[in-house]
Amino acid sequence: MSVTPPEVTPAERAGLRFSLRRRVTMLAALCVAGAVALVSVAAFVTVQTSLYQQLDDNLSQRAGNALDDRSMARSPGGNFPTAFLALSDIQFALIDANGTSYGDVGQYKPPVGQQERAVAAGVDGRSLRTDQATDTRVLAMRYDRGLALVVAQPLGPTRTALGKLSLVLVLVGGAGIIFATLAGTAVARAGLRPVQHLTQATERVARTGDLRPIPVSGDDELARLTHSFNSMLDALSESRARQRQLVADAGHELRTPLTSLRTNMELLLAAQAPGSPGLSEEDRSEINTDVRAQLDELTQLIGDLVELAKEDAPRAEFEHVELVDVVERALDRARRRAGDVRFDVALQPWSLIGDSSALERAVLNLLDNAVKFSPAGSVVRVGLRPAGDGSALLEVADSGPGVEEADAPRIFDRFYRSSEARTLPGSGLGLAIVQQAAQRHGGAIYVGTAPGGGALFTMRLPGRPG
Ligand code: ADP
Repeated sequence: MSVTPPEVTPAERAGLRFSLRRRVTMLAALCVAGAVALVSVAAFVTVQTSLYQQLDDNLSQRAGNALDDRSMARSPGGNFPTAFLALSDIQFALIDANGTSYGDVGQYKPPVGQQERAVAAGVDGRSLRTDQATDTRVLAMRYDRGLALVVAQPLGPTRTALGKLSLVLVLVGGAGIIFATLAGTAVARAGLRPVQHLTQATERVARTGDLRPIPVSGDDELARLTHSFNSMLDALSESRARQRQLVADAGHELRTPLTSLRTNMELLLAAQAPGSPGLSEEDRSEINTDVRAQLDELTQLIGDLVELAKEDAPRAEFEHVELVDVVERALDRARRRAGDVRFDVALQPWSLIGDSSALERAVLNLLDNAVKFSPAGSVVRVGLRPAGDGSALLEVADSGPGVEEADAPRIFDRFYRSSEARTLPGSGLGLAIVQQAAQRHGGAIYVGTAPGGGALFTMRLPGRPG
């Protein structure tokens, strides 16, 4: 067997570049990248929100504390509450509605804008904003009539912390993606190695036609796939062996009739040669009859061989078959050569999906055998009835000598003929064809003894009544 690997098209070549291994690696890297990106963004947003919230809370709390303590301290610019001293690490000021600082105490002046003045003027109770110009968070709270306490904290340190965090996240995420790519490559390589072995093995089968089974390792899905592939190879190799055997047997069997045909033809030719004594009319007619019989035998043998070679034919020619019609057609044909042997027929409807010509041929072989082995004037019983288990039994019973117990296991073999049957016409292929047809339809054929002592052949076929 030699199978040429199909040409690789440019599109397929592009697909090969994205081999399964590369795709697994890319998928792993993409998944990790997605997860890392999601986690990083979530972590960044959470930390950012909580840092800003903390900053605001801190401002509010410290401003609140400062406002609660009303004891006064002195400063060059005037008196101010002593609690304001606790604010010395952040920018603060007391402002009036015009934005003028009162009791100048803070080292760094917080930015004062519209909103803070509105708080001092009593329009708003409190304001909180980010001053873009100085990048500070500014909180204003009403202090006394016409005054507001403004506290501010630069956002710089927070932004620096967030910047560091994002750098760490990017670095760790990048390292994670690189690690995932490497791990993906390793996993894909290890995981796909058995696939590669299987591919190489199947390519070897295709290239060399060697149908020996592929070694199986492990018990995973790939091992199961290899097992199935091996079963396929097994079936293929069996079928090939059977075909080879059929050809060898056929060659052997064809040789005998061909040799006697050749001998007869040579006799006839020799008799026609000038100076030969010639043949008597009786001898000539005997040889003619012989030649005709041998030609008939050859024709039948070749027909049988062709039928047997159908073993691997696709089931495409299967169709709905009414078994009664098939049996009746076979009976019509069998009656023509049955002489004075009669048929007693009782058929119940049965249908199946199958090859009607193969089934007709099988039934005809059973009927022909029954006629061949039946004594003159006897009756062959043909019955078709459901067995009650989803299959039908087609029985052909004759009143001939029956099948010897010793022959029974072998009569379905190709070319097997019992010693008594050798004097009768036949090739020994008839029952092999019947068995093959039965098996192709999911059925079977058995031989037994008919009530009167003759042979009883029973073919079991699946299907349904009617
Ligand atoms: P053939 O009839 O050409 O010899 P078959 O395959 O049809 O080949 O049959 C094989 C053998 O089975 C026959 O040689 C014969 O010994 C036996 N056999 C088949 N049918 C019958 C039958 N109805 N009665 C007795 N023996 C039979």
